[in-house]
Amino acid sequence: MNNKLAVLGAGESGVGAAILAKKKGFEVFVSDSGEIKNNYKKVLRHYELDFEEGKHSSEKILNAGLVIKSPGIPDSAPLVIELKKKIPVVSEIEFAGWYNKAKTICITGSNGKTTTTLLTYQILKEAGLNVGVAGNMGKSFARQVAEEDFDIYVIELSSFQLDGMFDFKADVAVLLNITPDHLDRYGYSMKNYVDSKFRVIQNQGKDDYFIYCSDDPVIQEERKKRSIKAAQLPFTLGNPIGEGAGIKRNEILIQLNQKQFSMSILDLSLQGKHNSYNSMAAGIAGMVFNIRNQQLRESLTAFKGVEHRLEHFMVVHGIEFINDSKATNVNSTWYALESIHKPVVWIAGGIDKGNNYSMLSDLIKSKVKAIVCLGKNNSKLHEAFDKVVEDIVDVYDMHSAVKSAYYLARNGDAVLLSPACASFDLFENYEDRGDQFKLSVREL
Ligand code: ADP
Repeated sequence: MNNKLAVLGAGESGVGAAILAKKKGFEVFVSDSGEIKNNYKKVLRHYELDFEEGKHSSEKILNAGLVIKSPGIPDSAPLVIELKKKIPVVSEIEFAGWYNKAKTICITGSNGKTTTTLLTYQILKEAGLNVGVAGNMGKSFARQVAEEDFDIYVIELSSFQLDGMFDFKADVAVLLNITPDHLDRYGYSMKNYVDSKFRVIQNQGKDDYFIYCSDDPVIQEERKKRSIKAAQLPFTLGNPIGEGAGIKRNEILIQLNQKQFSMSILDLSLQGKHNSYNSMAAGIAGMVFNIRNQQLRESLTAFKGVEHRLEHFMVVHGIEFINDSKATNVNSTWYALESIHKPVVWIAGGIDKGNNYSMLSDLIKSKVKAIVCLGKNNSKLHEAFDKVVEDIVDVYDMHSAVKSAYYLARNGDAVLLSPACASFDLFENYEDRGDQFKLSVREL
């Protein structure tokens, strides 16, 4: 392999990889086909890194001995296809993993990654461990490996990161759930997507841990097909069996290495079934690192939650406004509706990634009194729910959505923004959608 290294994509992940690569003596070239954000340009200049934007100079990139591809660039991009025939193409996490000496807890799943990553991080940090957090938030893993000196990292891994991982090994792997998502990037094959998620346990040995949801039929089916070397620690909403976590008479019970932990689910700061899963997963990870029971209980009680994820934002005239803008697929919306115990005015819609709304039918029938459709094309929502819910209206901006919902709701109801869709038709991203929601609520 020659010493030239190309980085595709100059966001947090690509810039971090470039910094680490330079530090390790590579001759680095960063290429972004779009515009590079100013703050990243500054960093690239500061580190004297060669870069281009608005194009990919393929001759230069094809000269590299190694390519690091940012997760946002699909494998189907023509340049990537061409590169892969000649040069190893890896993800930023894989590359950083070659130089990382710290222990890693890697968290993946279709939903709940960010919440569980931050909760796990908080548990370890409050127990006084020297821990960093990486993945979709804050500084990239590669940049931290270059600049920090942590003993442990909690890393959120999307399937796109996992796809570019080969030799990386998680000391503790967490697999929260697998439901159809992003299938457009997996040739519309569920098997490809499942394989991608299971890369989180590749290279694990008998001293490692695999924490997974045993209530998830897709995970269970896949486990049967594989020989898994790591110690397996399941979590379930049912009774706990052996090591791992479960719930008995509203008590979470975790067992590991002859040690036991318990606390009431009513004391968890994160409510809802999905969050019980997330709390159990994080709790087991805490036990793996020998966090004391009292400390673990405190962190699970005090965790503030993450913005845009079932964020109980504000009550206006007895109507509770909940921002779940991050719910970009049907499954996460299911859990959002499940966790609310009052009549709901549901704001939904956006870019549908092939949604099948039938799994929401029962919850819609029992809880939702009105639907506000907020998307450029709302036909699928109408098809699914016109006959189920009496009031169903269309709006094309957030301000109107919040006003309509407010008008349709009564004292004691909840207004839930949980779109089950991506946001790019009307918003910049899910954060923008959630921020606009909160702004509009404030203005009521
Ligand atoms: P991710 O990082 O995987 O997208 P987040 O923690 O950001 O996950 O949560 C995304 C959405 O999924 C939120 O709407 C949240 O309410 C919902 N959610 C969180 N945890 C789970 C879970 N374990 N199962 C299903 N949905 C979940």
